[in-house]
Order: sequence, then structure tokens, then C-alpha cells
Amino acid sequence: MQTQHIKIEDLPGQEADLRRAASILKEGGLVVFPTETVYGLGGDGTNAQAAEKIYAAKGRPSDNPLIIHIAQPSDAEAYAVTNPTYYRLAKAFMPGPLTVILPKKDTIPLSTTGGLETVAVRCPSHPVARRLIELAGIPIAAPSANLSGKPSPTCAAHVAEDMDGRVDMILDGGDCEIGLESTIVKIDGNSLTLLRPGGITYDALCMVCENVTVASAVTHQLADGERVLSPGMKYRHYAPTAPLVLLSGEAEKVLRFLQTQQKEKNCAILCYDEECEHLNRANLLPIGQKKDLETQAKRLFHALRDADGTDAEIIYAHLPPMEGLGLALYNRMIRAAAHTVQTIE
Ligand code: AMP
Ligand code: MG
Repeated sequence: MQTQHIKIEDLPGQEADLRRAASILKEGGLVVFPTETVYGLGGDGTNAQAAEKIYAAKGRPSDNPLIIHIAQPSDAEAYAVTNPTYYRLAKAFMPGPLTVILPKKDTIPLSTTGGLETVAVRCPSHPVARRLIELAGIPIAAPSANLSGKPSPTCAAHVAEDMDGRVDMILDGGDCEIGLESTIVKIDGNSLTLLRPGGITYDALCMVCENVTVASAVTHQLADGERVLSPGMKYRHYAPTAPLVLLSGEAEKVLRFLQTQQKEKNCAILCYDEECEHLNRANLLPIGQKKDLETQAKRLFHALRDADGTDAEIIYAHLPPMEGLGLALYNRMIRAAAHTVQTIE
């Protein structure tokens, strides 16, 4: 398939391009579009064949459900059974990087939800995503626009690497603001279960709902046969070709360890910006200042793709803190590292 690549630089001026993208979606085709989290691989969420096409383009198992993207929180009424907690969350965080799991209505086929009777709903804030959904007039089902097993794409070059020839159109909206996938929550009355941490943090959710539980799979390895609340939790997550090892310990000791490792082996290092001057530049991938979790979130997937592109035999990174946005970084990195953590004494 021939993929059209469209760069969006002037949104109101490029309404015609977005109308073409919306037509492709309405006709059952696939369009990759930018969001504030990562790039999404979009298809018509009400069309079972479009969902099948998405799974095929990604090479993703078809029991791993898709998130539907809507233009306004109240648009969820057509596709899901809402409740007051949903609207409290919507008022606080939508549009934005929050996905809510709700019971689905018949307008959403089971192919979109991977056979589940629930549907994941999100209202993105990215202007290109919002305008595209409005013009299409349908909910856009969209997983991250990477091939299954690769990190989510946060820039158009990474999308093209994975999706050129597999989708009808790619809308290039530049780099994604957040860089990690959305926060996912499930509602139970007034309580929430955090299924995947993202740009909306645990603390932010606690300001809106009294009872927020973090699902154990967010931070821990699943036991054999353990039931999962969110199907994505059971799949092997992206892991680089070379083993990734997360380091914990005092900053100075970890830095000394890294200096020694660089002399002894060919390693790639996802380091803090302030460490650069103390390390050999070869295969060094700065992801932001230690305190700057936002920048680290934004650069993480890019750095992991870059690390994978080196000839390093091992990749080192710092174990993120579990507070604030750190929990989302921790969740992605601990899985990419297959839970390998080394404590430097
Ligand atoms: P992605 O689209 O790549 O960001 O991944 C979407 C993830 O959302 C899936 O892997 C699931 O873990 C989760 N998800 C989507 N729909 C549901 C649902 N109905 N119930 C629980 N989790 C869901
Ligand atoms: Mg994904």
C-alpha cells in the first residue's frame, strides 16, 4: 500500500488535508495521527473490519483491546455507559492523557474491544487529533502506532520506520508533548483502579477520587496464570535486543560503576544530562536532568530506539523513582528491563 505522508504545520490552513484524512477513516481506512501522548494508529472504532486492519498493521494479537478517541467527554454516551465518576474525571482531566474503562454499548463491536464487554475511552488534547475526530464524526480506535514489540513512536520518523506501506496516511505533527502512553483507570462506583500510569499521575487522581488503588501489575511481575485487569499487561512488553539493566543506589556510586563499565564493555547508557561530562560519549543517551521527569518521559522511547540501534552488548539506565510521573517511567522501564534491577553498593 502507498502511504501518504502529510506534515501538519498550520492547522487551520490545512483543513483540507484533515478532511481527506477524516474521509479515509470514514471509509474504513487507517490514518496515523499525533496525540499529546504518543502517535496513534487510527481506524473507525464502530467498524469491525477497521479494527481487524489495525491489528494486522501492528502485528498485534486481536484480544488486546483498542482505546477509542472522542472529541468531547459527553460523546462517550453514544458508545459507553457513563457514571458520575466518569464526569468528575472528565471535568478534571479531559481533554488530556487519561483513558477510562466503561461498560460498552452495542455501537462498539467486540473486535474493537478485543472481545471485552467494556470499552476504553479517551478524549485527547492534541489539536490535530481533536480536529480529525470532529471531522470524521466517529470514535477513532487507536493503539500506539508502532509495530508490536517496538516502543511507542513519539515522532513522525519513528512512525514512518514502522508503518510506511501499512497505513493509508501518516499525519506528521512533530514531537509528542508527553511521550508516554495515557494513564488508564477503571471505575468501580467511587473508587478507581490505576491500570497503567501516564501523564495523569496517581496523586492527581487522588485529588478527584478518594479511593485509588494501583494494580499490582503496574510495578510487579505477573505470577504465572495471574488474572489481569487489563489485557495489555499480559503481553511481553517492548524490550531492546541487548539486555537493559536498571541501576539503583547513591548517585556517585552509580556514576563510578558506569565509568568502570564503559572501560570494560561496550555499553549504551541512558544517563541524566548532568552525568554526560563525566562519561565517555560513545553510546551515551542523555534523557534529561535527574529532577526533570517530564523531559525523561518525553525522551525515553526515543532513547530506547536509539540504544537498540547501537552495537552495545548491554544497556544501563537509572531506576526511576515511583513518585509523580516517575511511576509511569518506572512501569515502562521495569518491563523493558524484564524486571532486572542492580543495586550498586
Ligand atoms: P495502546 O493502545 O497501545 O495504548 O494500549 C491500549 C491498552 O489499553 C491495552 O493494551 C489494554 O491494556 C488497555 N485496554 C484497552 N481497553 C481495555 C478494556 N476494555 N479493559 C481493560 N484494559 C483495556
Ligand atoms: Mg502500545
